[in-house]
Amino acid sequence: MSATAPAVGPSRWYEASIERIVRQTPRVVSVFVRASLPVHVAGQHVDVRLTAPDGYQAQRSYSIASAPGVEPIELAIERLEDGEVSPYFHEVARSGDAFEVRGPIGGHFIWRREESDPILLVGGGSGVVPLMAMVRHRPAVAPDTPALLVYSARTWDELIFRDELLEREARESNFFALAITTTRGGRERPSDFDRRLDRALLREILARWGRFPRHVYVCGSNAFVGSVSSDLVLEGISPARIRAERYGGAP
Ligand SMILES: Cc1cc2nc3c(=O)[nH]c(=O)nc-3n(C[C@H](O)[C@H](O)[C@H](O)COP(=O)(O)OP(=O)(O)OC[C@H]3O[C@@H](n4cnc5c(N)ncnc54)[C@H](O)[C@@H]3O)c2cc1C
Repeated sequence: MSATAPAVGPSRWYEASIERIVRQTPRVVSVFVRASLPVHVAGQHVDVRLTAPDGYQAQRSYSIASAPGVEPIELAIERLEDGEVSPYFHEVARSGDAFEVRGPIGGHFIWRREESDPILLVGGGSGVVPLMAMVRHRPAVAPDTPALLVYSARTWDELIFRDELLEREARESNFFALAITTTRGGRERPSDFDRRLDRALLREILARWGRFPRHVYVCGSNAFVGSVSSDLVLEGISPARIRAERYGGAP
């Protein structure tokens, strides 16, 4: 590239506008964003940059929940009480508002169709977002690839994409399995769980699935990713097969 060529790809900032905002759970909204970004790979994220009238800028990363090629792209943003950027999308942002995005970003936490062996997806809270892009993409490009989504949330009402996931579980039951666990509220279905995702629960869920995962994706807070990844290794899954995306929070 010559020194004067404009930046392209992940390093360039693009104008973005909000098409609509849809409430998913009491603490999460989906923000549908139009921007002329390159097509993403399932699992990637974008950087979002907000600029205040006085020029102050704040930048955060958000995973893409929509399948590759689907427009507008969907971000699902959890409101953190003492947060700087996430409350903006809950309280201030409206359809038509503009900001900047950069991406798609990420070359490790991605799933491509050629990876056809069983995939295990483990999400905690908003960590389900990039996994949702994989769940949505799989039936279109690799319908025979078995996938299990293990999804931990505080309560049944805090399960992001809940209705769509239940529908997919029913419709794609030969190849897509869903294991839900809620940590602060009783379970709604006998097949779900109501305790923290520890080693014993992972073992139980994997035994019920009856397959050994070849590719594993774990996403959520630092604490969630750390404990789940170690438990999976203790359960015999090679660390080389585990890809992790950490959203932050206490180390
Ligand atoms: C690759 C990547 C993808 C991400 N994708 C998403 C996504 O799809 N949806 C989403 O909601 N968030 C996602 N995040 C987190 C997001 O980038 C922000 O960190 C989050 O929205 C908080 O920003 P904030 O400005 O509101 O809070 P901040 O002002 O940055 O932080 C407020 C307080 O919350 C703490 N904190 C920050 N993040 C977390 C966390 N995850 N859990 C617990 N405490 C935290 C901070 O330490 C601080 O004390 C992603 C992060 C990364 C690195």
